[in-house]
Amino acid sequence: MDCIFCKIINKEEPSDFIYENDNFIVIKDIKPSAPVHLLIIPKKHIDSVKHLEPEDKDLMGEMVLCAQKVAKEKNLKDYRLRINVGRGAGQIIDHLHMHLFSGF
Ligand code: 5GP
Ligand code: ZN
Repeated sequence: MDCIFCKIINKEEPSDFIYENDNFIVIKDIKPSAPVHLLIIPKKHIDSVKHLEPEDKDLMGEMVLCAQKVAKEKNLKDYRLRINVGRGAGQIIDHLHMHLFSGF
């Protein structure tokens, strides 16, 4: 599968890693649109929110907690979390991810 985020997860493509655990990586967005712009990416390839199954419930909870953990570590007081779903909503990478913006 030709997925840039899977390649980054498998360390086949370089990226700025902020955090990693068994289920997630957190990297800096290559084209930041805020002073802090991170991507929380599950290691499991899921195309988008549209493709989530009931079994992914825990993973999605963990995704928000992962964002919270990184925000705490970086002392971010306020931040915005966003998931784009579908091209019309701005999703360009078909591997589920959540944006974390801060420092406006
Ligand atoms: P989307 O628009 O799909 O919600 O978000 C994809 C994000 O991934 C975009 O903000 C884009 O700048 C970022 N991005 C695309 N390719 C790469 C890459 O190779 N490395 C990193 N770190 N970010 C990427
Ligand atoms: Zn992928």
